[in-house]
Amino acid sequence: MTTSGGTASRVLVLNSGSSSVKYQLLDMDGDVRLATGLVERIGESSSRLAHTPRGGPARERTGRIADHDQALKAAAGELAADGLGLDSPELVAIGHRVVHGGLRFTEPTVITGEVLEEIERLVPVAPLHNPANITGIRTARSLRPDLPQVAVFDTAFHTTMPEYAARYAIDVETADAHRIRRYGFHGTSHAYVARRTAGLLGRAPEEVNTIVLHLGNGASASAVAGGRCVDTSMGLTPLEGLVMGTRSGDIDPAVTFHLGRVAGMSVDEVDVLLNKKSGLVGLCGDNDMREIRRRVDEGDERAALAFDIYIHRLKKYIGAYSAVLGRVDALVFTAGVGENSAPVREAALAGLEGFGLAVDPERNAVRSGEPRLISPDGARVAVAVVPTDEELEIARQTFALAHN
Ligand code: AMP
Repeated sequence: MTTSGGTASRVLVLNSGSSSVKYQLLDMDGDVRLATGLVERIGESSSRLAHTPRGGPARERTGRIADHDQALKAAAGELAADGLGLDSPELVAIGHRVVHGGLRFTEPTVITGEVLEEIERLVPVAPLHNPANITGIRTARSLRPDLPQVAVFDTAFHTTMPEYAARYAIDVETADAHRIRRYGFHGTSHAYVARRTAGLLGRAPEEVNTIVLHLGNGASASAVAGGRCVDTSMGLTPLEGLVMGTRSGDIDPAVTFHLGRVAGMSVDEVDVLLNKKSGLVGLCGDNDMREIRRRVDEGDERAALAFDIYIHRLKKYIGAYSAVLGRVDALVFTAGVGENSAPVREAALAGLEGFGLAVDPERNAVRSGEPRLISPDGARVAVAVVPTDEELEIARQTFALAHN
């Protein structure tokens, strides 16, 4: 579609959670972020909308926003006030982050009625995430039924995992009847960061084997061989793998039986314990790595133990994925902790010189929003920090699909 200003090139990206909607409006002509915003505490009396147009200043309003429909309309109102209304002919598509795409969705997909039904059929394997994503899609479709709406799945990048990495060693019939297997998450971030890392090395993604460490409040690792994911740490749900802000990561499944039989906890209580009250917060009461490091530096023993457990798990995955890949060309840190915490990066690779892994202390200490190398010159494995940008990746994939 063209307008007097040239080719229409705006994409709205929506990330709908159970009580929040994050949005970004991007102009794909130059990858310019025109506005970003967040509506949170949807359904409560203290709902809050924070909206930042390009160049600022940020605007904020509080007061009850009843549901996702109202949230999206409120966001659309803010965009319209900046001259960026959703009725603009410049807007070519809406891209939705969808957490679970199962085995069916291996690529970004234009959302039809049938696609929406399939996303709904995946609710039993993603009960915490897919319902909110579906609500966001329905609302956006009702606002602009004429526009292509594209689903970009968190699981898609991991669908290349070989069967031996994706299957749990449990009874095959039971697993298949209930679609129990390892799906992996954060895939949009892993894909983007692995590709950017290859670019940073001046090489094609197909040539590079990379360990990606996405360390945010949720955290996951992946082994990427020549641009394709061959293993990842999250499983049927985002609970498996690394120690996270509030999730336990790997645990003996018998702990859950034990909690039921001995502690008398219900399945839902165990679910809340492992997803919301475990990980760093369960270990030391804090899930913000800045606060944990501050406490460690003050000699707090609980915070120090939490940090050590976090790092120990990370090291185990680095070792495992070194073995899975056979040859590692790059290891990359991303997301809130990975991009910002020099102590985590240093501790995670300490003692791994035998694997060709090391960080240069001065490079590691640099604070920057740019992709950068932090390994010493001549290191066998390039160690990098690459800021993730899931919204940009979703916008690119949405634009590419809507344009064809
Ligand atoms: P994310 O989920 O990617 O937004 O990451 C959020 C997490 O990043 C927070 O919970 C903090 O633990 C961590 N984080 C953010 N900024 C910093 C920082 N400057 N230093 C250390 N950790 C940080």
